[in-house]
Amino acid sequence: MQTIADRLTNARQEIEHAIADAHRPAHCVRLLAVSKTKPVSDITAAYEAGQRQFGENYIQEGVSKIEQLKTLTDIEWHMIGPIQSNKTKLVAEHFDWVQSVDRLKIAKRLNEQRPADMPPLNVCIQLNLEQEATKSGILPAELPHIVEAISGMPNLRLRGLMAIPAANVSESQQRDTLSQLHALYAQLQATTEGIDTLSVGMSNDMAQAIAHGSTMVRIGTAIFGSRS
Ligand SMILES: *Cc1c(COP(=O)(O)O)cnc(C)c1O
Repeated sequence: MQTIADRLTNARQEIEHAIADAHRPAHCVRLLAVSKTKPVSDITAAYEAGQRQFGENYIQEGVSKIEQLKTLTDIEWHMIGPIQSNKTKLVAEHFDWVQSVDRLKIAKRLNEQRPADMPPLNVCIQLNLEQEATKSGILPAELPHIVEAISGMPNLRLRGLMAIPAANVSESQQRDTLSQLHALYAQLQATTEGIDTLSVGMSNDMAQAIAHGSTMVRIGTAIFGSRS
């Protein structure tokens, strides 16, 4: 049976293969281990295998794990799930990153609620590229306005873009979406200081995302096994 350490090694190798296939520089893609629904013992197993960046989707669950693991001070905790506006305070007080900023109201609240003795909260803007009505995220046309607003918030540090492209689309549709995302990212990088994160790619579309410029893949199942 494969251990979490084995599966992490495999995931890192797959990432480096995809990077090489795309003729990009080695180690240019970070691995976020998505530990949602998994026990704290799985996180410590991954930590012992050298993993430091973890993603959680559910606020209460994430905060509970952060508190249980607070002696591991070099873990970087990323919130990647939807955020209700009445929960922003918990997020601002515990996480290092929020990748799922999907409306201006959330950014404003996080900025106001980030404690003064903590470093600025790293944020990514979550894009809704397929313009799916059911999906959270900013439409590309709204991006300049929210970028400008976040850039003026002292307790947030804008790092880039995040997206969850639709699964079950044709390969050409997938390529179109990833190309559009990369173009928006390149434009953002050219016009804004400190942009270094294009968070796209999960267990099933990691290689394609890396071929289209992803700098951070978010991997759950391939590391921790399937979720019930
Ligand atoms: C669950 C989740 C992941 C990880 O997905 P896997 O298919 O298990 O790799 C990545 N990103 C987000 C936003 C998620 O909710």
